[in-house]
Amino acid sequence: MQDVLIIGAGPCGLSAAIECGKRGLSSELIDKHNVVHSIYLYPTHMQFFSTAEMLEIGNIPFAISNDKPYRDEALAYYRRVAKHYNLNLSPYEEATSIEKLPDGSFRVHTRKRSGVESYREAKNVVISTGYFDHPNYIGIPGEDLEKVTHYFREAHPYAGMKTAIIGGSNSAVDAAMELIRVGADVSVIYRGKEVSENIKPWVRPLFEGLVTKGKIKVYVESSVTEIRETSITVTSNDGNEQSIDNDFVLALTGFRPDRKLLASSGVELDEDMEKPHYNPETMETTVPGLYVAGVIASGRNANEVFIETGRLHGRLIAEHLMTKS
Ligand SMILES: Cc1cc2nc3c(=O)[nH]c(=O)nc-3n(C[C@H](O)[C@H](O)[C@H](O)COP(=O)(O)OP(=O)(O)OC[C@H]3O[C@@H](n4cnc5c(N)ncnc54)[C@H](O)[C@@H]3O)c2cc1C
Repeated sequence: MQDVLIIGAGPCGLSAAIECGKRGLSSELIDKHNVVHSIYLYPTHMQFFSTAEMLEIGNIPFAISNDKPYRDEALAYYRRVAKHYNLNLSPYEEATSIEKLPDGSFRVHTRKRSGVESYREAKNVVISTGYFDHPNYIGIPGEDLEKVTHYFREAHPYAGMKTAIIGGSNSAVDAAMELIRVGADVSVIYRGKEVSENIKPWVRPLFEGLVTKGKIKVYVESSVTEIRETSITVTSNDGNEQSIDNDFVLALTGFRPDRKLLASSGVELDEDMEKPHYNPETMETTVPGLYVAGVIASGRNANEVFIETGRLHGRLIAEHLMTKS
């Protein structure tokens, strides 16, 4: 039986597998897609806000010519690290529930891409399933229309189109900048007085310049309250409504971890069933032998853990496992 089964091969799951391996613990990784699938889903031309060094795992240098990598460089880096450490990875296998066996070990029920149900057993389990599969839905009429997406990949489909971006984060600002380049008519709608204070400093002045020139329309202290086929309703925080013509909506409102797997395994959760209870020094949850790594360990604000910080969880877990063995 493996010492550890790691569910989710994002940067934090990979880091956990490497740290376990370095200490002689046997491990297996499963992922419902392929390695670092969340990064694969990022906007195609996205540049990280983190430096390459802050994204490194397993002491493998992330050498690039800029200091901040692009998505495709990160994909290549993490693929190379997984290969370098010869990680025992089973892609396209989803964990569906976790069962604790009478001897204290675990049976993780899985479903392969073919639909075949299976299971794996391990002495310990690490859940590192991230958050990218679960967008924060706004819950407004029309959000399920085909013209609405919570994932921005590339600007081309929006060329010449009236496109509304909901959100004021890096994702929203990056998307607006790309859309302008292909000649889209861009409106950005956000609830705050200003876009996020965390906007990449080298992007902010360019965005603000385009807003000042009137090339990007912004609706501050406002929300989209209804989406229709050819228009949307924008409602200001003080209640004024206006209808604006619209072809596409990019609802870039962030993501939240899915806690179903945690709940199925009996881990205690707080903050309205959001944050798992765990020891921050070991990452062990209230179920002995069951650990969390990466963004799944965050509370309601999923951005409180990111690659820079979540990549360090694996070492804590591996060190704790060594004290047990
Ligand atoms: C556009 C964008 C830009 C970002 N830029 C940065 C940045 O510059 N710096 C930074 O530090 N962070 C950044 N982040 C945040 C970062 O992407 C996340 O914090 C990070 O991906 C979390 O890593 P993780 O390993 O916890 O989870 P993930 O990377 O989400 O990996 C989880 C993995 O688990 C798999 N999985 C999910 N459910 C199951 C299941 N039931 N069974 C099996 N496998 C499963 C998924 O397929 C996925 O491969 C950015 C995020 C976004 C969206």
